[in-house]
Amino acid sequence: MTSEIRYRRVLLKVSGEALMGSQGFGIDVAVADRIASDIAEARRLGVEISVVIGGGNIFRGVAVASKGGDRVTGDHMGMLGTVINALALRTSLTKFGIDTIVLSAIAMPEICESFSQRTALAHQAAGRVVIFAGGTGNPFFTTDSAGALRAAEMGAAALFKGTQVDGIYSEDPKRNPDATRFERLTHDEVLGRGLAVMDIAAVALARENHIPIVVFSIHEKGEFAKILSGAGRATIVSD
Ligand code: UDP
Repeated sequence: MTSEIRYRRVLLKVSGEALMGSQGFGIDVAVADRIASDIAEARRLGVEISVVIGGGNIFRGVAVASKGGDRVTGDHMGMLGTVINALALRTSLTKFGIDTIVLSAIAMPEICESFSQRTALAHQAAGRVVIFAGGTGNPFFTTDSAGALRAAEMGAAALFKGTQVDGIYSEDPKRNPDATRFERLTHDEVLGRGLAVMDIAAVALARENHIPIVVFSIHEKGEFAKILSGAGRATIVSD
């Protein structure tokens, strides 16, 4: 069975907004549990999975900067939000019996272990799902960039980007129902056409490291495992 698996080691980027469900803020535990069940299903296929979690459901640094505050402080607040989300997702994964570790780019040893590539690879080799919190640990970056960075550091065969829709469209399909959906694109095409799927730094980093980006709907139950098994709906961005 496992010979049909498309990628054996992947990094999944989950935005903070995906966790808030229809609430408009914070964490909807039922949604976190559903995403965790999808990760558990994919893990049972034998795929090694690590996760970068966003924080947009709690705080974004630009919100401070746009009101005249200090961007760096705002970004620190945003990164702390990702830690809250990481703990929530770990709690959900644990309910499904998945051994999970949270590694933070910003040291907070009373709460979770600190990130180092060596530690992360060791936990992955021990069969754990690794959740990366704190983004890259630096202001002026996003968790999309952290996704591409950690995917490269972990030797992931693909970066899965869970979004609100089932792939990359020519325009926002929620605004324009005539927008066309792409099956396949290159990193250059995504950057050249300015397709708003991930930030430029993230796509450029994935391109440089020849990491395919698989864009799919995080809200479609079971889709993650389906795509890993060679089916499902997604846009694949590759060389
Ligand atoms: N952030 C940061 N550096 C990073 C990653 C995140 O400063 O490497 C901050 C930034 O303020 C960002 C917030 O954390 O707005 C939440 O992350 P992001 O917006 O990427 O979350 P998502 O959109 O995925 O929910």
